[in-house]
Amino acid sequence: MSRSVFITGGNRGIGLAIAEAMAADGDKVAVTYRSGEPPAGILGVPCDITDPEQVEAAFRQIEEAHGPVEVLVANAGITRDALLMRMSEDDFDAVVATNLTAAYRVAKRATRGMLRARKGRMVFVGSTVGLRGEAGQANYAAAKAGLVGLARSLARELGSRNITANVVAPGLTRTDMAAALPQDRLDAMVEQIPLGRMARPEDIAAAVRWLAGDEASYITGAVVPVDGGAGMGH
Ligand code: NDP
Repeated sequence: MSRSVFITGGNRGIGLAIAEAMAADGDKVAVTYRSGEPPAGILGVPCDITDPEQVEAAFRQIEEAHGPVEVLVANAGITRDALLMRMSEDDFDAVVATNLTAAYRVAKRATRGMLRARKGRMVFVGSTVGLRGEAGQANYAAAKAGLVGLARSLARELGSRNITANVVAPGLTRTDMAAALPQDRLDAMVEQIPLGRMARPEDIAAAVRWLAGDEASYITGAVVPVDGGAGMGH
C-alpha cells in the first residue's frame, strides 16, 4: 500500500509484529527503538517517547524519509506492577507517561499531517486490563483505560476529516512483557482464557493491520479485544 506508517516501540514484541505485517503489505514503516535494532527494511528512529523533543525529531526524520505519517500505531508501553499500598508516585507517573501521555503526544503530532491530507489512521494498543482492571496494576489499568477516552475523543474530533482512532486491547501476549511475570501467575492467567493459550504477537498485529486498512474505513472509536475471550463482557 506504500503508506507512511509510524509505530512506537516497534523494535520488539507486539510492535515488531505489527511493523513486519505492515511492511509485508508494502507500507513504508518506521519504528522507534531504544534497545536492539529493527529488522532490515524497517526504518529505526532512536526515540524515547516520553521526551517531546525526541518525538519531534523522530517525526521530522520519518517525514524526510517516508513523507507525513498516514498511519500511527501508539504501541510502546511499560509496566511497573505493585499493589496500591506499595505503588510509588514514580511507578504511577512513569507508567502513565509512557502508556498514555506519550500516546497523546504522538497523536497530536501526527494529526498535523493527517489534517492536511484529510485522512489518517490511528490505532492505540490498550489492554484488557484497561477495561477490567487488575490487582497490582492500578497505574497500568488507569493508563490503558485513558487510551480509550483519548481514542474516542479523537474519533469525535477528527472524524469529519476522515481520520479514524481505534483501540486494540490485547490479552496476555507472548513477549518480554509477559516473560517478566512469574510462571505460576502466567499459568493461572492462561487458565482463565477461553481459547486456552496466550496471544502471539501476530494475533495482535492482524487486528491492528485490519483497523489501519481500507476495509475498516467506517470503524472509529472502537475497542477491539484480541484476548482469546479473556475480557468478554467489557
Ligand atoms: P515489550 O515489553 O515486549 O516491548 C515494549 C516496547 O515498548 C518496546 O519496543 C520498547 O522499546 C517500547 N518502549 C517502552 N518504553 C518506551 C519509551 N519510553 N520510548 C520508546 N519506546 C518505549 O511489550 P509488548 O510488545 O508486550 O507490549 C506492546 C504493547 O502492548 C504495550 O503497550 C503493552 O502495554 C501492550 N500489551 C501487552 C500485553 C502482553 O501481555 N504482552 C497485553 C496487553 C497489552 P525499547 O526496546 O526501546 O525499550
